[in-house]
Order: sequence, then C-alpha cells, then structure tokens
Amino acid sequence: MHRRSSSTIWRNWARNQHCSPHAIERPATEAALVAAVGRAVAAGRRVKAVGAGHSFTSIALTDGHLVDLSSYGRVLAVDEERGQVTVEAGITLRALNRVLARHGLALENLGDIAYQSVAGAAATATHGTGLRFRNLSSSIVALRVVAGDGTIVSCSATERPELWSPARVGVGALGLVSTLTLRCVPAFNLHAIEEARPVDGVLERLDDLVEGNDHFEFFWIPGTRWALTKRNRRTNEGARPRARWDAFRNEMLADNLAFGAMLRIGRRRPEWIPSMARRIPSAGPQDYVERSDRVFASPRHVRFLEMEYAVPREAFPEALARVRDLVARIGVPIGFPVECRFVAGDDIPLSTASGRETAYIAVHTGIGAPHQEYFAGVEAIMNDHDGRPHWGKLHFQTAAGLAARYPGWDEFQEARTVLDPAGTFANPYTDRVLGPVGG
Ligand SMILES: Cc1cc2nc3c(=O)[nH]c(=O)nc-3n(C[C@H](O)[C@H](O)[C@H](O)COP(=O)(O)OP(=O)(O)OC[C@H]3O[C@@H](n4cnc5c(N)ncnc54)[C@H](O)[C@@H]3O)c2cc1C
Repeated sequence: MHRRSSSTIWRNWARNQHCSPHAIERPATEAALVAAVGRAVAAGRRVKAVGAGHSFTSIALTDGHLVDLSSYGRVLAVDEERGQVTVEAGITLRALNRVLARHGLALENLGDIAYQSVAGAAATATHGTGLRFRNLSSSIVALRVVAGDGTIVSCSATERPELWSPARVGVGALGLVSTLTLRCVPAFNLHAIEEARPVDGVLERLDDLVEGNDHFEFFWIPGTRWALTKRNRRTNEGARPRARWDAFRNEMLADNLAFGAMLRIGRRRPEWIPSMARRIPSAGPQDYVERSDRVFASPRHVRFLEMEYAVPREAFPEALARVRDLVARIGVPIGFPVECRFVAGDDIPLSTASGRETAYIAVHTGIGAPHQEYFAGVEAIMNDHDGRPHWGKLHFQTAAGLAARYPGWDEFQEARTVLDPAGTFANPYTDRVLGPVGG
C-alpha cells in the first residue's frame, strides 16, 4: 500500500482531472483487493477503483482510497470451446486481445483504442461502431464484485441476474469488479477501407453505408466539407496489412500528428485551422486486411478533451446538422474532428445504447483550447434528442435530468442499494450523475 504524501497526486490520461487520495492501493490478488476495501471501510473512507485513467470526467476521482488495478490483470481461464475468457479487472484490452488471438478468439467489437482496462471500459459502456454489434459490456457473461461490505458477490444471467444486469455498466458505483467473464467470438480479420469523402455525400448515402458495412464510422472535419470514412467488413481473407509506411503515415499523420500540429498552431493562430484541416484528407485512401483488433484500435499520441452523446439512430441526421450549424455559428475554429458511430441497442440499464439503435456523436478539442461554449452548445442540442452522455466523457448533466432518459434507471438504483448501501464506492461524480444511494 502506498500512503498519501504531498506528492501523491493522481491524474487521468488527458490531464484534465486530478485528485489527492488519502491512500493509493495496488492489489495483485483478489484477497488483497478485498483487504483494500476493508481497510478503507474500517477507516470510514470511500473507495474508487481506477483502471487506465482514460476517462475525461471526474468519474475515477476520490479523496479516500484509490485502488489502482494495474497490477491485477491476469487471464484466469480461456474456454476455447464455449468462447469465453475470465480475466482480472485491471487487464488492458490490448493485453487481452493478444492472449485471445493466441487462442483463436477475439472480442466481437472494440472502440478506437485498446489502452483501457476491461473493467474501466465496461463501467462506462465503452463502444465501437457497427449496427449489428453491441458494446463491450454486452459481452459480459459473469462478474465477481466486491460489495460495499467487503463480501464477494458472484453474478450472471442465471445467478443474481438482478445484480449482473446493471453491474455490466456499473459507472463505478455498483461495487468493485474483481473478475469478468466475457463472451468471445472466433478470431476474424477485417477488410478495411479508409478514405476521405465529401461529408454531404456521406450523409446522403448514410443508411447504405451504415447497413451495408459491418462497421462504419466517419469523422467530419470542422471547417471543411470533408469526412474521413472507415468501412470495415468481416472477412475470411488472409491478412494483407498496410505497408508499414502507410500505416505509420495514416496513424501518425492523419490521426495524431496532423491534428496535434493543427492544435498547437491553432492555439496561437486559430484562423489557420480551416486551411490546415483541408489538407488532412490528402493522406490518401487505404485498403487492407488485418486482424480485427489491429483494425479497430489505433495508437493515440495527441491528448485532447472529448464529449460524446448517444442519440436514437433516427435522430442522428438532425442532431449532426445542428452541430454543424453550431460550429459555423460559434466562430472559434475547431481543430479536431467530430466522430460519428452507429451501434445496436442493448438491454443494460445504464448503457448509453440501452433499448435503442444508437448513433454516437463525439466532439473534441485540444487541451487548453476553449471548449465550454462548444461542448455546452452540443449538449443543448443533444438534450433535445433524448441524448445520453458517455459516462467517461465530459458532460454537464445531473441525475435529475438523466433519470428519465434510461428505462432501467430504477433497476440500477435498486442494485446500488444492495451492492453499496452506504455509498462506499460513491464520489462527487456519482453523487452528481446518479444521486445519493437510495435517494
Ligand atoms: C484516447 C481515448 C479514446 C477513447 N475511445 C473510446 C471509444 O472508442 N469508445 C468509447 O466508448 N470510449 C472511448 N474512450 C473512453 C474510455 O473507453 C472510457 O472512459 C473508459 O472508461 C476508460 O477505461 P479506463 O480503464 O481508463 O477506466 P478509468 O477511466 O480508469 O475508470 C472509469 C470508471 O470505471 C471504474 N472502474 C475501473 N475499474 C473498476 C473496477 N474494477 N470495478 C468497478 N469500477 C471500476 C472507475 O472507478 C471509474 O468510475 C476513449 C478515451 C480516450 C482517452
């Protein structure tokens, strides 16, 4: 255990959130995890688990005991026949993907990066894109959770389903997840086509693109008429990777460095952003076949801030059109793209895709760039479309506004009173977005 000192400040990846916990614990076994919770409870302090710190919100902050799970990330069992894997909560998606590949397995769908811990990603309903596919939490078959009283609760669709169902997206408030069993699929390759297209053409053909590809997403570049599109189809074809230089050029130039340079220059000369942005599509089309996780996730070297909203799929065209108007109206050049993705509905109470086919609209700015007016404007638009904020990305919502947007809200709160009646796993963020336990 690492006791608090004046230099014990924890920061998230984006460096926009920090806290000074009373103690930081780094358990490496389940027994140590339980003991860590017990010590905090005995001292009358709250507990927060932290995975990879890749949330932009204050969701992982505490002045109590911070339980850092980076040393608790083993794969405990791989069942190739049933296509299931059981892992300790702190394993990163990247480490898990590698192990699964060795067993001829893969996760069904992934988001843009794989740096997150599996438990942290699940807690916030982390998602990728693909209208026939659901988010990571939907793959959770079973969980072992340390409850607020220090006992371990096992749950699955057949064992305490009333706890398992909401705990798949626990927002860090339904106990401390110790292990997760995930459903996997046989390993697969993706045929990826990535190219710049005029955004209006993309919007005209949107349904075809979303329904005709296994995974479709696009990034509209503010200040331009361009969108970078990514189309992925599942295939039995052998790998035909990008040339190393092409991969490097696209990831570093288009995805990272070009945006980074644009942000740095844009901070001093914002009026240059539109003309810089117009050059980005010249990175050129890409057409390749690769192992699924290598296509889904890419490295990220440029830090940024992000807000992302989930709206019903049918609300997407109007919601995006209003975001484009907003960008034109606020007059501050935006040096980062607007990312649009499409995901199947699911049955998890506080999943952002709960009960409806969902479109996600994500807006970003560079660190230090003004984002308040932009993000507040986007949130106002999303409020009109029953938008649900990503739990790990910046937003200004409170429980009062959110409760009606989730059909499973009460089911979640019910599970909270069972797993954490004293609010051991609460923090100011959960107080704001979920309200007090039993309240
Ligand atoms: C560059 C970047 C790209 C991203 N891309 C995507 C994307 O494509 N799709 C998407 O949906 N999101 C994306 N995100 C958001 C990210 O997936 C989520 O914020 C995710 O929660 C981060 O995982 P983490 O391990 O860092 O969790 P943390 O940020 O460390 O924690 C998140 C929450 O999970 C809780 N938690 C962690 N471990 C446990 C546990 N064992 N038991 C109970 N609670 C726990 C924490 O207490 C906290 O409440 C991205 C973020 C970044 C920075």
